[in-house]
Amino acid sequence: MPVRSNVFISALGAVVITVTTAPFADASSTALPSSPDSSSVDLPGRSDVPYEIWQKDVQEVAHRASAYLHARTRSLKPSERAAIVLDIDNSALETAYADELPIPPVQAVLQVVVAARSNGVKIFFVTARTEIADAATKANLRHAGYPVDGLYSRPVTKALESPAEFKTAKRKEIERDGYTIVANIGNTVTDLVGGHAERAFKLPDYDGKLW
Ligand SMILES: [Mg+2]
Repeated sequence: MPVRSNVFISALGAVVITVTTAPFADASSTALPSSPDSSSVDLPGRSDVPYEIWQKDVQEVAHRASAYLHARTRSLKPSERAAIVLDIDNSALETAYADELPIPPVQAVLQVVVAARSNGVKIFFVTARTEIADAATKANLRHAGYPVDGLYSRPVTKALESPAEFKTAKRKEIERDGYTIVANIGNTVTDLVGGHAERAFKLPDYDGKLW
């Protein structure tokens, strides 16, 4: 009997996999060990945008980011501590297209990040996922090949607050820690508004179809 699984982000921001056994569609939810709840919200993330088109659109942005970062890292002053801020879902990891955990990396973005890291740029992830999923999130990122110099996720008590305000506040915090955020890479507007990055690179979200 065919089994189809989807990866969701729950209302609290933890990754949840829902397994559906066809043809009866009697679904059960399997949460990660650290997930606080077993309910999931089917966000409009299981994109109907074909994977190949998404990849091509991502690659165009990654190519621009790569060229910029290559030049920018060569102009860094010895005193400058450069950092990249990254969104996770559908920016660093191909969450909406994944059928299983761990979620694979967005390869074009991974290549940009690994190249920048080799030039001394620190890599900070700022996500609307909640802190309760931190261990699983870090394990997934590292399994996917990402260096993780920092992970900023939302406290459960702030899970329903504005992602944009949270993410901007974390970029300010990173700056206060002495870093220059040379690039902020994300796929939704809420990842990028609010400033506090020299450059913002907008990956596709197809008008909200990818969170
Ligand atoms: Mg995202």
